[in-house]
Amino acid sequence: MKSPLLVAALLAVVPVNEGWSWGQEGHSIVAEIAQRRLSDTAAREVDRLLGSELTLPKGARFSLSSIASWADDYRSDMGPKGHIETYNWHFVDIPYDRDAYNAVRDCSADPVKGDCVINALARLVPELSDCSKKDTERAMALKFVVHFLGDLHQPLHATTRINPDTAADDLGANLIQVTFFGQPSNLHKVWDSDLILHKVYDWGEYVRLLETTWLPGKDIAALQAGDTVSWGEDAHRVAQIVAYEFPPDHALGQEYYDAAIPMVDQQLALGGLRLARVLNEAFQPGKICPER
Ligand SMILES: [Zn+2]
Repeated sequence: MKSPLLVAALLAVVPVNEGWSWGQEGHSIVAEIAQRRLSDTAAREVDRLLGSELTLPKGARFSLSSIASWADDYRSDMGPKGHIETYNWHFVDIPYDRDAYNAVRDCSADPVKGDCVINALARLVPELSDCSKKDTERAMALKFVVHFLGDLHQPLHATTRINPDTAADDLGANLIQVTFFGQPSNLHKVWDSDLILHKVYDWGEYVRLLETTWLPGKDIAALQAGDTVSWGEDAHRVAQIVAYEFPPDHALGQEYYDAAIPMVDQQLALGGLRLARVLNEAFQPGKICPER
């Protein structure tokens, strides 16, 4: 059963996790665009793996959008301290003034908070098709991968900048206070959710708009090419040329929105297309693991 509106209604009662990830809408948009491009084999395996954690009838269907924000809840909500060891897995801090990813500089492992989204995906994607793993372990990897492919495409999850006013790291623009059409916000949150919700307050409708205006006529294979490093560097470039181009008074309005929203559309669509590629490659006909 695939009903974006129903899922949106269900998600609306979940507390919003501010400032650290595409909002739930962005993740749901990426996941739904991917879901529509899964091969039959991949779609069956997604249903089977996600079903392995639940006592639902065999053959139950799942929407990737419904589990797309699970990794944020896992990080912050479970247990007394949450799963802080996954904290840094949601982003890669390529410095604003550099163009290329450097693994030593940008993805070294913090003993408490983990390394970065590039290394997290390098570990998790192979787990999807690792038949030595239990189904529940592979289901967990799937939930992480769906989320992290989204995060990797959020420009401010691929960039951080030393604030020229304070000489301090702005934490992916979380520390840059702005107003967005008069409402207090921060620059990171503007990209996580404010821009998306300003365009249309309904992620299912956002998907429909991308499917009817952005995606038609595109060379899908070309857009799916590359790897997690090049995808992160592409997102980083969007941060350099658009996200950080805010006015000196930090008041973001129509002019900023008009420059930013084509990039938001692009990054959400690319995230969905590339997630579809990753899942279709992981779950190929003839290479599906036996149930365990
Ligand atoms: Zn995240």
